[in-house]
Amino acid sequence: MLVFENVREMQKWSLDQKKAGKTIGLVPTMGYLHAGHLALVKEAAKASDIVVVSIFVNPMQFGQGEDFEEYPRDISRDISLLKAENVAAVFAPSARDMYPVGYSTFLEVTGEMTNKLCGKKRPGHFKGVTTVVSKLFNICIPDVAYFGQKDIQQVIVIEKMVKELNFSVKIERVPIVREASGLAMSSRNVYLDEVQKEAALVLYKALQYAEKLINGGEKDTAVLSKGIESIVKAEKLAIIDYIEIVDDVDLANVANLSNIKGSVVIALAVKIGSTRLIDNLVVEV
Ligand code: AMP
Repeated sequence: MLVFENVREMQKWSLDQKKAGKTIGLVPTMGYLHAGHLALVKEAAKASDIVVVSIFVNPMQFGQGEDFEEYPRDISRDISLLKAENVAAVFAPSARDMYPVGYSTFLEVTGEMTNKLCGKKRPGHFKGVTTVVSKLFNICIPDVAYFGQKDIQQVIVIEKMVKELNFSVKIERVPIVREASGLAMSSRNVYLDEVQKEAALVLYKALQYAEKLINGGEKDTAVLSKGIESIVKAEKLAIIDYIEIVDDVDLANVANLSNIKGSVVIALAVKIGSTRLIDNLVVEV
């Protein structure tokens, strides 16, 4: 497995692979890998000749006062996990190489899609995401790129960017990988102590409750949101950031499930102590 730290070397190697007729599957990550990331890698390995995993804690997508400095990092552990998978190359650039002094080019999906849910609480976050992802596409030249449903708003924003800017890359969504307890895997779970980890189960519990109501015929999303809210509020350590029920194509708010053909996303963000956790469930209606 090759490890590239340099942007130009990564790009040259990717171009050489394309010239040799190989298809490239890219899995962008911020590292500190877990089984959720590895599910994306396994999907990529099924479909492409070559799998490239990027590991880059992107400073541009963190706001002031967020956890950029504390974000967990363990590149040697990540590399050994990826060696056990069918990964041809890891791209782990420095921030200085990605954003040289004087860097001033950004890519932004504007409008409601990036202003709601996580975008409302984290202004500038998605601009940082779309800028880095478009750079990764130009450097690693993937045919297919893999993103987790865990960050559902992120993948929907990237799908819109790819469609509207005619990137020649296919975006694949990979379902959420959970711990046996139901907690969605996340690099940030390392911030939780045992008591907080137990409290964090309330996210999935609330989502499952809403799914049960939907399956029982409930259509009114205000009723569903209230139900979710009451479950989360019963957990003393939990503070609700948002609860939203939205369309899974464009994140438009849904007032009544009768208006929807296909699937809705029930999405929530909850703080447990100082750790902000997100989770969601895609439910067919
Ligand atoms: P991150 O390193 O947190 O930026 O995540 C890198 C990619 O892995 C993103 O596309 C995430 O949505 C995806 N991912 C993170 N956690 C999970 C999970 N529990 N299940 C599936 N995909 C995930």
